[in-house]
Amino acid sequence: MNTSEVIEQFNQYVISNYGRLPSVIVKGQGSYIYDADGRKYLDMFPGWAVSGIGHCHPKVVKALQDQAGQLIHMDNTFYNVPQGQLAQLLSERAFGGQCFFCNSGAEAVEASIKLARLATEKQKYKIITATGGFHGRTLGAITATAQPKYHQGFLPLVPGFEYVPFNDIAAIESVFDDEVAGVLIEPIQGEGGIQMASQEYMDAIRRLCDNYGALAIWDEVQTGMGRTGKWFGYQHYNVEPDIMTMAKSLGGGVAVGGIMAKPEVANFLVPGTHASTFGGNPLACVAASAVIEAIEQENLLENTQTLGLYAAEALNNLKEKHACIDHVRGYGLMLGIQLNEPGGQIVSTCWENGLRINCTQDTVLRFMPAMTVSKNEIDEAIEILDRSISHVYNGVGSHG
Ligand SMILES: *Cc1c(COP(=O)(O)O)cnc(C)c1O
Repeated sequence: MNTSEVIEQFNQYVISNYGRLPSVIVKGQGSYIYDADGRKYLDMFPGWAVSGIGHCHPKVVKALQDQAGQLIHMDNTFYNVPQGQLAQLLSERAFGGQCFFCNSGAEAVEASIKLARLATEKQKYKIITATGGFHGRTLGAITATAQPKYHQGFLPLVPGFEYVPFNDIAAIESVFDDEVAGVLIEPIQGEGGIQMASQEYMDAIRRLCDNYGALAIWDEVQTGMGRTGKWFGYQHYNVEPDIMTMAKSLGGGVAVGGIMAKPEVANFLVPGTHASTFGGNPLACVAASAVIEAIEQENLLENTQTLGLYAAEALNNLKEKHACIDHVRGYGLMLGIQLNEPGGQIVSTCWENGLRINCTQDTVLRFMPAMTVSKNEIDEAIEILDRSISHVYNGVGSHG
């Protein structure tokens, strides 16, 4: 089938809830994706932060192939080997908690909210979240997402949520009370435009939660699994949560999500309280364990730190040439380029020139290459970005 036939099929049979680019992607390898017309693109936003170690990483492919012939799915009526192994690998790289597995970020957020309500005394129910945050698209997760555009058409939302401005300590102090079950925030907001929590803010949330008997919940769906140059975003702050969510790059492209909770909190999730049919299935779990193995064997945390600094500096240098760039921020390979103007046209021009990046919150370009990216690939990406910005603002240099 060619591109227009696939698009026609979608138009007839697939619900059009996504604004799609008119390309059909048929293959991915490392930092590159290929479309049905034989074009190759450098992918600096692989899978919306899902393909964190690149497309079709050989270790993930091998683990999936081996496991698929052995046992694809097994329900949680029984024990299975891959689920326990993955939980241990994650626990040892975070805060020694216990894991529950599901299949997506939103489900992980839902599980964390349920657990916070279960595990706090006196039936606490309030969940505090921050403006600009993003936590997924289920009804609970959009309620947690303090951005009105995600609520439109879906009222009434889930009761018991309170929103505070991100990084505002006085604001969160002023709404805290004995009814608060948990504070749910991203240490570095992703969809919100690569906005980093301040050290003082993370410390204040931890202190308030401890004082009031509430739980700190870090949503690490986007910041986790090495993206920021450490296993988890919170490790830049040295402030541990009581519950943490994971998904996106956890499975190297396979749908898997999960939460980790301190054992004394996790104990409340007893049989009958929560479950997921597909959660923790062997196929997804071997993929995630292969991701962890690849990150360690290929020194990808170091690569992320080194190339993150390199990319941030190179992107910052573009400022001198392009007045539309205000500044660059982020940790590791989770970088945001703050523009003074909307970035949509830059993104589409980059795509025409063979580069995939993302724009969020209208004026922030998200530059989040795979942790396996090479210096050459970053150079190539920045060269295309440079040329594309020139084209958008000066009408020159569109093809190359
Ligand atoms: C993407 C994202 C989610 C939602 O994940 P889904 O798998 O799309 O449900 C939740 N939290 C954060 C921080 C995210 O970036």
